[in-house]
Amino acid sequence: MSVETQKETLGFQTEVKQLLHLMIHSLYSNKEIFLRELISNASDAVDKLRFEALSKPELLEGGAELKIRVSFDKDAKTVTLEDNGIGMSREDVITHLGTIAKSGTADFMKNLSGDQKKDSHLIGQFGVGFYSAFIVADKVDVFSRRAGSPASEGVHWSSKGEGEFEVATVDKDDRGTRIVLHLKSGEDEFADGWRLRNIIKKYSDHIALPIELPKEAAAAEGEEKPAVEWETVNRASALWTRPRTEVKDEEYQEFYKHIAHDFENPLSWSHNKVEGKLEYSSLLYVPARAPFDLYQREAPKGLKLYVQRVFVMDQAESFLPLYLRFIKGVVDSNDLSLNVSREILQKDPIIDSMKSALTKRVLDMLEKLAKNEPEQYKGFWKNFGQVMKEGPAEDFANKEKIAGLLRFASTIGDDGEQVVGLAEYLARAKEGQDKIYYLTGETYAQVKNSPHLEVFRKKGIEVLLLTDRIDEWLMSYLSDFDGKSFVDVARGDLDLGNLDSEEDKKAAEEVAKSKEGLVERLKTALGESVAEVRVSHRLTDSPAILAIGEQDLGLQMRQILEASGQKVPDSKPIFEFNPSHPLIEKLDAEQSDERFGDLSHILFDQAALAAGDSLKDPAAYVRRLNKLLVELSV
Ligand code: ADP
Repeated sequence: MSVETQKETLGFQTEVKQLLHLMIHSLYSNKEIFLRELISNASDAVDKLRFEALSKPELLEGGAELKIRVSFDKDAKTVTLEDNGIGMSREDVITHLGTIAKSGTADFMKNLSGDQKKDSHLIGQFGVGFYSAFIVADKVDVFSRRAGSPASEGVHWSSKGEGEFEVATVDKDDRGTRIVLHLKSGEDEFADGWRLRNIIKKYSDHIALPIELPKEAAAAEGEEKPAVEWETVNRASALWTRPRTEVKDEEYQEFYKHIAHDFENPLSWSHNKVEGKLEYSSLLYVPARAPFDLYQREAPKGLKLYVQRVFVMDQAESFLPLYLRFIKGVVDSNDLSLNVSREILQKDPIIDSMKSALTKRVLDMLEKLAKNEPEQYKGFWKNFGQVMKEGPAEDFANKEKIAGLLRFASTIGDDGEQVVGLAEYLARAKEGQDKIYYLTGETYAQVKNSPHLEVFRKKGIEVLLLTDRIDEWLMSYLSDFDGKSFVDVARGDLDLGNLDSEEDKKAAEEVAKSKEGLVERLKTALGESVAEVRVSHRLTDSPAILAIGEQDLGLQMRQILEASGQKVPDSKPIFEFNPSHPLIEKLDAEQSDERFGDLSHILFDQAALAAGDSLKDPAAYVRRLNKLLVELSV
């Protein structure tokens, strides 16, 4: 036992304690994954070393043959993992194995319910990594030495996975990390060569460097213990360099879990090799579920970048647009230089053309998923739809393609689920319909019952119902799809084009003419509150409605801007009334100007309420209404 100095005991960050507790209780049914997680870390550590050694070859001193070794001791009930990767310094160990450095972690922990089944899913989403060792071990020792540091700067970390851990400085002969798991009683099954080999084959076959196990050699006569001979148990080649036809689905799936730190299988993947002017391979995955930090600005995103098989960086963000930030994968280029930096990536024209090709691959993959696996695509949309909606604004070139992937709720179907695609909408459009109609609003309940939909109901025309916060903004970037333009049914002077017959139009004109007097009276009564007053052809049941001016901001955008403290340009609505509604007929017949004024304002305020807006002067509304009620009851 080497001498330990500078020993100290430190407490885990609260979130680590919570994670440990949860993991031990929720992942118990899948406990063998601890090995996958530790091998995944070891493989990352070797990747990092290989990369750093490009500029500092001396880091490879004492062994350039990079590998992971897994061994066990049946009697001592231990499993040991050893890698000769980058290793950790004392400070590294304290931060990496004592805290969780992901933004939003505390918020995430609040979502956990205590229900083990649900939590095990959530925890999978979060990624467990190193701490999963405590699923099977009641004590873990880590010995590590950062590559390039002297033997005297080794560090020993030790913990029982409860509240605290110990660190001490020790001598360590070689660089890299050795992790010793002291198995809990009842977990000795893992101290077994056959079991370990199976787990490695199952989860870690795709790891690109050798994973070695001791050969089961019998002790030679007179020897107490046989000399250890090692044998590689995994395939040890980079998965993305292999031809597609030779890679099994399970291998793709396990590789995904390794790079994405996800527990679940991906929904879909796309593996390609590009040759010609540019040479690169890519393997891109669509996750099945959103990571807990999808909307965190600093959340990890981007691909793992390799240059000629050598790992160069994680989270290379320049290869995909932001609205595809949930895509995980690897890109391996033959053209980039090994000392490429993030700054260079941002400017390199090679990257631009790779980015547009990779973007197209992802969109194609999503199209295929939508077409062949509509149920899975529904799930995809639930998780990532909101992010995809950022697409048309960010990626002008692919606007049409992205639009085709969007899904909306509509007046067909009544549960508000976003399942209608634009192609499907157009395929079942009315004959003569050359527009795509939509309505935006705060909630599904509100838009579903909006008076703006009355005429569409009557004519049996489908309207898309958009209630995500981002929707109005999204629609400002979409003008048409498949040659058909989008029309906000709450905006401007609704023209149903060919959907109105000539007779309908004529009749409408005549009615409008006959109501010119009423229009003028209403204009006087409503005065500054409205931009215009006119006869409506949107209404069948409601007396009146407020339409938004063609160029004005909609309610949603106005509310978003106001909430962010911006000054919003003043805009007035257009008051439209339904000439055949009994209330309007009554209004038209009203002799008293005072009563006419009260009734008009009440109708105006009601229309604002029905549109989901708040009243400028609610007290005045109540006063007028009560006045009428009193008159009624006399
Ligand atoms: P993650 O791998 O998701 O970052 P982990 O909890 O698994 O989270 O590991 C935390 C960090 O500890 C890693 O990011 C890495 O910096 C460090 N680490 C873990 N295992 C090793 C190892 N075998 N060699 C070097 N560093 C390691």
